Amino acid sequence: KKLQEARQSENYKNILGGVVNDAVAYAMAVGECNAAMGRIVASPTAGASGVLPGVLLALKQHYNLNERQMAEALVVAGNIGMVIASRASLSGAMGGCQAECGSGAAMAAGAAVDVLGGTPEQVGHAVAIVFKNMLGLVCDPVAGLVEVPCIKRNGGAAAQALLAAELALAGITSFIPADEAIDAMKSVGDRLPCTLKETAEGGLAQTPTALAWAQAYFAADGKI
Ligand code: SF4
Repeated sequence: KKLQEARQSENYKNILGGVVNDAVAYAMAVGECNAAMGRIVASPTAGASGVLPGVLLALKQHYNLNERQMAEALVVAGNIGMVIASRASLSGAMGGCQAECGSGAAMAAGAAVDVLGGTPEQVGHAVAIVFKNMLGLVCDPVAGLVEVPCIKRNGGAAAQALLAAELALAGITSFIPADEAIDAMKSVGDRLPCTLKETAEGGLAQTPTALAWAQAYFAADGKI
């Protein structure tokens, strides 16, 4: 809401441009809805639920996509998700945030390429580029709640998805093919320690600010 309101102001610097700015705003809005226990579609998970709708709604708005195109984009995204799930994982607890927001971004990037007229090969390159750029991202939710850093990561993943889609549509290829990039994501995820896989025992969740906030939150909630 703040991002969209800021855009109305005279001195606003729209660094990202319209499509990415909207995709980020929509992705974070869905992330906030999820954190507030609203209704979302896990695509591929609740934590990463903002990426795909963020990207697709922004593209719909800016490229006048119709319902059929949106439905086809969802089919492409869903099939990319199934490939990732069968070769690796979609879960932060299994593979870190690269498996959640990374997979959401890969699904969105592939869908974006397809819906904007790219070839299946370009869809694959977009998927590979996303994983190359998001490889190693850990899962470290503050207090174990899917809020910090998850909401802004949805915005970041939406931007990564559109970056990968634009590169692929420009004919830029990934040196590492999609299947191998997915396998690399699994390999990295398997090697991540449990402290960096949704346990809130590492990363941002263990910063002084996060620990102080969690202490106050759980004390107020009567849980400690
Ligand atoms: S940090 Fe963990 S809980 Fe949050 S979106 Fe990423 S994988 Fe999901």
